[in-house]
Amino acid sequence: MYTQGLTIVHTGNGKGKTTAALGLALRAWGQNLRVLIIQFIKGNSKYGELNALAALPGDNIKIIQMGEGFTHRDNGISQDEHISAAKKALQTAIDAESSDNWDMIILDEINYAVKFNLLTVDDVLKVVDNKPQDLHLILTGRDASDKIIAKADLVTEMTEIKHPYKQGIKAQKGIEF
Ligand code: ATP
Ligand code: MG
Repeated sequence: MYTQGLTIVHTGNGKGKTTAALGLALRAWGQNLRVLIIQFIKGNSKYGELNALAALPGDNIKIIQMGEGFTHRDNGISQDEHISAAKKALQTAIDAESSDNWDMIILDEINYAVKFNLLTVDDVLKVVDNKPQDLHLILTGRDASDKIIAKADLVTEMTEIKHPYKQGIKAQKGIEF
């Protein structure tokens, strides 16, 4: 069957970028597509999706965290360590793209990695430009670069209308992680 692989971007300041990508991953997996999720910046095992995806049978879905934690949190990780983790994650994405092992690759928070100067826009454009025709590539994170948006086929901007954080409600299990 002919597949037109799409470049998809989830950006904006509202909640739902990563969860929408995970929703797509689940949908694609249910259609026997092979899905790889590479998480930039994130390096925390508390996320419910890690357990959920690990519990799915077979090897058609895989999630790997390759980050050192969000940079704005003072967790003792140097900028160099963040850069080196992001570069490794990028290389993993490039290798995965050319491996023919996956039908969908999700680069979660890659837009943040650019925003925080862990990667250049050109680094990310290389991944977009090298996308095989039939691969679906999804990039998430706030402040997606205009250059990436210009190359994408499907771009959704999540806009914050209300967020519980503004009322002082902290991140909750099953909602944020
Ligand atoms: P989610 O992972 O819940 O889909 P997201 O990917 O859209 O969120 P990110 O920008 O990756 O959002 O934000 C990471 C964390 O910040 C998440 O825990 C998310 O719930 C929270 N968050 C998202 N949007 C907002 C907002 N507008 N105000 C405060 N916190 C937010
Ligand atoms: Mg996110």
